[in-house]
Amino acid sequence: MTYKNFTVETDADGIALVTWDMPDKTMNVYTEEVMDELDAIIDAVVADDAVKGAVITSGKKDSFSGGADITMLKKMFDIIQNERSKDPQKAMQMLFDGAGRMSKLYRKLETCGKPWVSAINGTCMGGAFEMSLACHGRVAADSPAVKMALPEVKIGIFPGAGGTQRVPRLTNQQDALQMMTQGSSLTPSRAKAMGLIHDVVPPKKLIAAAKAMIAAGLSPVQPWDEKGFKLPGGKIYTPAGANLWPAASAILRRETHMNYPGAAAILKCVYEGLQVPFDTALTIEQRYFANVLQTTEAGSMIRSLFVSLQELNKGARRPEGVKPTKFKKIGVIGAGFMGAGIAYVTAKAGIPVVLIDRDMEAAEKGKAHSDGLVSKAMQKGRATADDKEKLLSLITPSADYADLEGADLIIEAVFEDSGVKKAATEQAEAHLKPSGIFASNTSTIPITGLAKNSKRPKNFIGIHFFSPVDKMMLVEIIMGKRTGDKALAVAMDYVRAIKKTPIVINDTRGFYVNRCVLRYMQEAFSMLIEGVPPVMIENAAKMAGMPVGPLSLTDETAIDLAQKIMKQTIRDLGEKAVDPRHMQLIDTMVDTHGRHGRKNGKGFYDYQGRDKQLWPGIPEVVGTPKPAEQFDIEELKQRLLVMQALETARIFEEKCLTDVREADVGSILGFGFAPYSGGTLSYIDTMGTAAFVKLCQQFAKKWGPRFKPNRLLRDMAKNNENFYRKFPPKEPAKAAEAA
Ligand code: NAD
Repeated sequence: MTYKNFTVETDADGIALVTWDMPDKTMNVYTEEVMDELDAIIDAVVADDAVKGAVITSGKKDSFSGGADITMLKKMFDIIQNERSKDPQKAMQMLFDGAGRMSKLYRKLETCGKPWVSAINGTCMGGAFEMSLACHGRVAADSPAVKMALPEVKIGIFPGAGGTQRVPRLTNQQDALQMMTQGSSLTPSRAKAMGLIHDVVPPKKLIAAAKAMIAAGLSPVQPWDEKGFKLPGGKIYTPAGANLWPAASAILRRETHMNYPGAAAILKCVYEGLQVPFDTALTIEQRYFANVLQTTEAGSMIRSLFVSLQELNKGARRPEGVKPTKFKKIGVIGAGFMGAGIAYVTAKAGIPVVLIDRDMEAAEKGKAHSDGLVSKAMQKGRATADDKEKLLSLITPSADYADLEGADLIIEAVFEDSGVKKAATEQAEAHLKPSGIFASNTSTIPITGLAKNSKRPKNFIGIHFFSPVDKMMLVEIIMGKRTGDKALAVAMDYVRAIKKTPIVINDTRGFYVNRCVLRYMQEAFSMLIEGVPPVMIENAAKMAGMPVGPLSLTDETAIDLAQKIMKQTIRDLGEKAVDPRHMQLIDTMVDTHGRHGRKNGKGFYDYQGRDKQLWPGIPEVVGTPKPAEQFDIEELKQRLLVMQALETARIFEEKCLTDVREADVGSILGFGFAPYSGGTLSYIDTMGTAAFVKLCQQFAKKWGPRFKPNRLLRDMAKNNENFYRKFPPKEPAKAAEAA
């Protein structure tokens, strides 16, 4: 029998090698068709007396599988959207059955009577790792490419194909909970130490080692199906369980503020599932999975962090009709904090980089940053000595602009000074080929203005990275008034090549991310001035789902930088552009008390090494705080989120943001906007535009005109519209073609 997505070859010893290699995809994923074929292969293995057992692996280099395909989740959401209003009972049954499809298939595999071994040759995520756990043996290649994870919680759901039951039956409950609630990746050695895989072998010996397990008489019965099975971490109702579970619930609350139903469901599944027989446990998991799928949080997170994110990463916004760019050489000017990071991510993508600074010493120092990062990765087993040598050989430090000759793209990251940028642009363009693109990494200077320094403004664009460059996944691509399609396409190809997510912004002061971040920090300044206790502001932000409190964030980015930005804004836009109370607060912090933020160990917090505590001197600047009881924590949470969402709606109205997916994904990746909400615009849509506008109006009355809803929002509220219906994103199919 032949299959579209698998090949099956049985060797002389009667071991079938099942190789998963989807013909039209770079990464294997679970689709209905894949599940049907796997189902048929299990039947065939069982039916053929000549087959003793099977090894399943992937035909893709460095990857096993990424887990479920978008289409599978979309099908579930179609049921929720289309069936639930008609017949809720039937919809629930359909969801329950759909949720159980994969789980039942894996159960069939592990109870088929013949041994299966998963040979994990690369990235093995979600449903694919759950399938591996259902195999009787698991071997992984000893390679940095191998990462195993159950990351579902990151998109609002949880491992629903047996993961919550098999992991805590293989390892202790604490490690199981930690791995699943954080969605963290495991290296082969960690997975082995946890008992989740049996062996780690050199990549070349992977298949042989997997087959050897079967040849050695691997049992086709899982430990939990054996009589007398004992949980590795002991039962729930034991002294160890009594230590773990109350703390586990408390940690969940501390880490998630109960904003993530998917994370809470993991605890419930494990707690309940470990007290019952395995098949009942799978049913419990299936029931919670069907439940969580129906939550707003799961719907919003899957839409933004799975569907939209993938579409944007594939180049959904790339102009059609421009040939893809194959980068042979990239220039980076300015080997400082940002330039050094940009050179690193470029070389990591395998692209040769020339890293220019004013003198050789500064350029070399920029390259040393890459050495540091790749050496650290080596220590953690994430890179090899070969990787390091290759990466460093791709970076050429230089003080000579002539070395930029022939670059496809030059990215400027010199001082944030128009004069310095003008000189760097002119010098670089002398060596840029006519079709080459010039990009600036400026964070505050409008691209349209900077493009005036260029002879080819059509080829001039903004590529705005965030720090630290190697960690932050978002990149804003800024279109100046005269930027052309070719420049946009090249910038998008570059961001795609370095495996980051691009969003396209039409030139505006502060672009998207920094405009919202500033609003978030300013709202906290207002709260401080009103007498809200500082700790309450920070906690309200975290309870609302922000990763970092606004005062802490101000410290991280530097209070004197906030002061510089505010002063520049006043110079450019006039006194009214900045709240004088904020200016006074920041001036006092910086000029009177020398509090510059984390960088000098003194900001809204006092820093001692890694420890920090809110600075007890804050009342000297803003007065003694009022009692916490005078403030409504729910209102504080809302103020912080509403202010950022409102700013997004304004940017959308100004047409500086033009795609709802970019607004949502950008808000989560760029400034950590409450991920469970699905992003700033999803936050408004979920609340309902009319309710959002009403809340803004109430806040405007109570807290000031900064909360006044903009015209777009008011009109949408009047017409009962929401963002995703009014501005439906470009069809994904079309988007993929463009990629
Ligand atoms: P930095 O001071 O660390 O680095 C600037 C580097 O440019 C220095 O090494 C300097 O020697 C070099 N340089 C100056 N003039 C030069 C010239 N004519 N030719 C070659 N090299 C020259 O600054 P940074 O923090 O890396 O910022 C660089 C740019 O990135 C700025 O435009 C900044 O606004 C932007 N940016 C910074 C951040 C951030 O968090 N620091 C984030 C996003 C964007």
